[in-house]
Amino acid sequence: ESVINRIAAGEIINRPSNALKELLENSLDAGATSISIGVKDGGMKLLQIQDNGHGIRTEDLPLVCERFTTSKLKVYEDLSTIQTYGFRGEALASISHVSHLSITTKQADSECAYKANYADGKIVPAKPGGTCEPEPCAGNDGTILVAEDLFYSIPSRKTALKNTREEYNRIFEVASRYAIHNSGVAFTCRKIGAPKADLSTPQGASIITNIRQVFGAKIASSLVEIEHSDGHFDFRFKGLVSSASHEMHKSVFLLFINHRLVDHGPIKRAVESLYTSVLPKASRPFVYLDLQIKPENVDVNVHPTKREVRFLNEDSVVAAIVDCIHKKLMSSSS
Ligand code: ADP
Ligand code: MG
Repeated sequence: ESVINRIAAGEIINRPSNALKELLENSLDAGATSISIGVKDGGMKLLQIQDNGHGIRTEDLPLVCERFTTSKLKVYEDLSTIQTYGFRGEALASISHVSHLSITTKQADSECAYKANYADGKIVPAKPGGTCEPEPCAGNDGTILVAEDLFYSIPSRKTALKNTREEYNRIFEVASRYAIHNSGVAFTCRKIGAPKADLSTPQGASIITNIRQVFGAKIASSLVEIEHSDGHFDFRFKGLVSSASHEMHKSVFLLFINHRLVDHGPIKRAVESLYTSVLPKASRPFVYLDLQIKPENVDVNVHPTKREVRFLNEDSVVAAIVDCIHKKLMSSSS
């Protein structure tokens, strides 16, 4: 049974960056205004996330890694209107099946922090023969999650992910995109032991400032704002798109739908072909898009590792995005 659970968990959490995405979304759900990420060996050896969010109640600690345990879904009707990122209650459970996971957490009204260790969906003693009770310890308000030895329980997966530099790049990509989008939250991302962080965005910096930090001044200065709201189809978006061709080898898309980092093939393809046809050189677009769609129109039942989402009236939304960018490109080039 344990093997089956581990394989299922390995399909939900299939690489360090995708564990990070789930953990970041939990920290954001917890109202964090500061999130620090620490990484060893591309996250394979260790992945740590510290936030200053509302923390986890001590009595909930024994349960948080059980499957379908979530504090974000009180009644069934919430499913259609859920605003938070995660609702499945599967992320921590899956991570606990594929790593050695510990959680240290403190709520503001608690006198001390508590630490718990997890394996295969359950709270376990810190040392063999010890107690399963969360242990009181010193700590700041908020939560620290540490996942060690990722995929120790799935040797084939571990072998497949031996390029730690590639895994770190993916971690950095997820971290920096969430940092750019969440301008109310300070983010850092560092390799543990490195003299300085690779990513450090302060709380309250604008999105364009964050983009400049991560992608450089040249790209940031080529960006123009777009904005659109359509009452009839119940969606709206704003964003920043490149207006001039710049030396990028590939397109860059930072696409958020209802504040979740997603992929969307039809939007990408439509925007890429717009740039090819409108701008002089073979231009690669840089696109940051914050798209909000009425939650009941978004299909939330996609597999967690599939970043691709579906929503109603896709064609109209894609057309509106292309049209809005097109107008902007025409007016900024004249
Ligand atoms: P979900 O996010 O879908 O509820 P998860 O498995 O990701 O499921 O998390 C389980 C529960 O653990 C969450 O519902 C939340 O109550 C708690 N939790 C996880 N991470 C944090 C965090 N960083 N801060 C506060 N609570 C957290
Ligand atoms: Mg979650």
